[in-house]
Amino acid sequence: MPPSTSAPRPQNIINQYHTHHQNAFKAGLEEPAIPEDPTSLPSNGFRPFHGFSANGKVTAELVYANFGTIQDFDLLAAKGISVKDKIVICKYSKIFRGLKVRAAEKYGAAGVIIYSDPQEDGEWTEKNGHLPYPHGPARHPNAIQRGSVDYFSIAVGDPTTPGYPSLPGKDTKRKNPIGAIPYTPSLPISYADALPFLKALDGHGLTPEEIGGSGSDWKGELEGVGYFTGPSKVKVTLANEGKYEYTPIYDVIGTIKGTSDEVIVMGNHHDSWSCGAVDPVSGSAAMNELVRGLGRLVEMGWKNERTLILASWDDEEYGLLGSTEWVEENAEMLSNHCVAYLNVDGATNGGDIFGGTGSPLLGSVLRSVATLIPSPAGNSGTAYDDWLANYQQSHPGAEFPHLELMGTGSDYTAFFDHLGIPSLDFRFSGKSSSVFHYHSNYDSYYWMDKFGDAGFKKHHALTQAWGVLAVRLANVKILPFEATEYAVTLEKYASELKVRGKIKLDTRPLEESVARFKSAAKKLDSKISGLSGTSQTSVSPPTWAVTKLNRKLRGIEPGFLAKKGGLPGREWFKHIVFAPGLWLGYGGVVFPGILEALDDGDEEEAHKWVVRIADTIDEVAKSL
Ligand code: GLU
Ligand code: CA
Ligand code: ZN
Ligand code: ZN
Repeated sequence: MPPSTSAPRPQNIINQYHTHHQNAFKAGLEEPAIPEDPTSLPSNGFRPFHGFSANGKVTAELVYANFGTIQDFDLLAAKGISVKDKIVICKYSKIFRGLKVRAAEKYGAAGVIIYSDPQEDGEWTEKNGHLPYPHGPARHPNAIQRGSVDYFSIAVGDPTTPGYPSLPGKDTKRKNPIGAIPYTPSLPISYADALPFLKALDGHGLTPEEIGGSGSDWKGELEGVGYFTGPSKVKVTLANEGKYEYTPIYDVIGTIKGTSDEVIVMGNHHDSWSCGAVDPVSGSAAMNELVRGLGRLVEMGWKNERTLILASWDDEEYGLLGSTEWVEENAEMLSNHCVAYLNVDGATNGGDIFGGTGSPLLGSVLRSVATLIPSPAGNSGTAYDDWLANYQQSHPGAEFPHLELMGTGSDYTAFFDHLGIPSLDFRFSGKSSSVFHYHSNYDSYYWMDKFGDAGFKKHHALTQAWGVLAVRLANVKILPFEATEYAVTLEKYASELKVRGKIKLDTRPLEESVARFKSAAKKLDSKISGLSGTSQTSVSPPTWAVTKLNRKLRGIEPGFLAKKGGLPGREWFKHIVFAPGLWLGYGGVVFPGILEALDDGDEEEAHKWVVRIADTIDEVAKSL
């Protein structure tokens, strides 16, 4: 478990020295209080650090590694720039921060500094005429993104209890977390603090064009720096000292008992890095309202058929700990009874476009719910209309918006990747009108009230969507799962495999099995809509028919779990069709086994995965 909140504050420093060892610059590692923003007091948040970061003090030259992706490190190496025994400085964004540290470790770096470049912020930058917070919607120069640096795509939950619950007392066996968390110290800093370090690289090593080609994303958006790769001439000292200890965490679980043996779980986390007005309080406020609303319904005599479990998770920020350990503890009950998991992390990051990440089975029910929610963006239509219009900008001609692929990043991970429970994560995001200070002290009520959601319309709309979804899933006779959308998603990604890499992979077995799955799925979906008018309305076909159909629908997602073991090198991840990208974390991929074998250049292994996944898909198809 994580360092305790009551533990002494970590002592973190980053110093830059000139060659004659005169202390030239010391990073402030502080977010100054803003008079207008009453919760921005440094005492309201942690001192900036990376959860699970290794302790250590290192002094070395600096190398700039762009976004710190594995491809960025590959490119540096290909161009002859070594990060071995150097301190890497890289930008936040694109992938999960812990995998930046992991990639740096792979190439032998001694330490890692990660900062927020305005390049993350689209048009909401000073360069584009926006004043920084609190005077405008641009990022505050001193804003720092805290966050944990566990190896997210490989292990989640308590890194000392992989696959089993971390319970109090001596009976819980604890493993060495090696391979799940970094051994290299790292720290997060602001762009104001990053500037002197980046300047120290100027004139050393390669320019952004030389390493990444013209227009390359190696060039960030700070004025007055060239974004050279280095290594620098000056040396930098990075020190991180945290205390590792086990402390209790608290999940709060509420249950509205239903009459059937099926269960729907809904969750949101309540821990945060600072006040966390967006992450997670916007979602927690929605959950409180949801609970209040459901309570009111129950008082009025409403009865739910499926049991509703409402979970307020602790310790999401430290590796999805509260949800993962609860899922591991209740795995058998959940595998036998849980039909869906509905997650909300932040309800809105300031954006007003509805959308979701999730199992393709749940796309159609989420879209249908969105058509009932008035647009919080001030348009005359619904949240669905805004979602569709926004989706069509990036997918011209699309008939309807699809869910994004499930990677990881929040508490659905154990439900979906470990147990194969169809899961959803939804929110208002999309086009935002300001910069959300993620994991910073400026993720505050003042920001939310002034810039993020003045009038709290998006909070309201998200709560309505969650409530309608809960009530519908609680009592609808036939589960509103659409198998065809699953098949269509697989079809798309199977066809994309052909154009990947140099290896000529024979993907025919996969494509043929997906085609069989698609035709079985279509038959099932049309049988359901024939019975019920639409799969969403609650009518009453005979009970035996409902039970049989629900059994088939419920079998789909767990049907894609590995029968034995899990994904290579990360066996806890059992879903063999969807997974967080090994070097992405947040981003999801389809057919991870095949992709990773291709990345390793292992044709035989890639083909084995083609056959294995094709067989699995065929089994699911037959069960329909
Ligand atoms: N949502 C958290 C983050 O992205 C989860 C962190 C973790 O699992 O370590 O930082
Ligand atoms: Ca565990
Ligand atoms: Zn969160
Ligand atoms: Zn967070």
